[in-house]
Amino acid sequence: MAPLFAGPADLHLHSNHSDGTQSPAEVVRQAHAHGVRTLALTDHDRTTGWDEAGAEASRLGMTFIPGMELSAKHEWRSVHVLGYLFDPENAALRAETDRIRDDRIGRAERIVRNIARDYDLRWEDVVAQTLEDATVGRPHIADALVARGIVRDRTEAFDGILHPREGYYEPHYAPDPLTAVRLITDAGGVAVIAHPATSGRDRMMPVPFLERLIAAGLGGFEIDHRENTASGKRLLREIAAANDLIVTGSSDYHGAGKPNVPGENTTSDEMVARLIARATGTTPRYP
Ligand code: AMP
Ligand code: FE
Ligand code: FE
Ligand code: ZN
Repeated sequence: MAPLFAGPADLHLHSNHSDGTQSPAEVVRQAHAHGVRTLALTDHDRTTGWDEAGAEASRLGMTFIPGMELSAKHEWRSVHVLGYLFDPENAALRAETDRIRDDRIGRAERIVRNIARDYDLRWEDVVAQTLEDATVGRPHIADALVARGIVRDRTEAFDGILHPREGYYEPHYAPDPLTAVRLITDAGGVAVIAHPATSGRDRMMPVPFLERLIAAGLGGFEIDHRENTASGKRLLREIAAANDLIVTGSSDYHGAGKPNVPGENTTSDEMVARLIARATGTTPRYP
């Protein structure tokens, strides 16, 4: 039997329901234009973009895999856990994402208050850059800084004012990665650590802790991602092989908010099939 999906799969893209700059349908169209044929929308802590993205994917003959990038935290590190094909109505997962998104609002207000000590920036500037109910984050503050003419683009904002070393940064509530993996898995989904080996921004979680995540039900690692270091990728491939984990590759597209382009990294058909086979929370939307 021919597979229901085939061709380049990009399993990590963001819309303006979180910190991407385009609507879910536009994200799908961009992915299609770049040759992607299977895609997952993975907005931070939110699933509201699924219906629009799924409908547009069907229209274009693509396979849509519902996903999310759940915010977590290990000690001081921000850890992102991708969840795929979980039940979006799962009460425990919904309660946690509601809590994270709610805390992100107060946290963004605190960051803006800190910045306003030195720059002409107001909370209304951030609201103006944020789609109603979007998961708010530093990218929206970056856009407000751009609109105010304080920085040129998001990159300059993240390298400067929004970097923790500048002293304006504030953390937000996020669950421990073990909790994040369990919540996704208990909701019938597959948990995959996003960009586990980024350098500079956050350093990698220690291997013994990764092994605890695997024991707790972790499904895989996102290895082919532009921000993973070469040495980190080698180590992750060894751990993945030793534990028979799923390995993914993706763009982490954010529209105009980052240079990443859809399909710049992809996931093999074999790995997509394993991901689908493992999930019980919901099904992909096939063309
Ligand atoms: P937050 O979760 O609010 O702390 O913001 C982190 C988000 O900012 C991540 O999900 C990234 O998508 C985005 N981000 C991080 N670094 C950059 C950068 N240099 N340029 C644009 N966006 C970035
Ligand atoms: Fe993001
Ligand atoms: Fe991320
Ligand atoms: Zn992402």
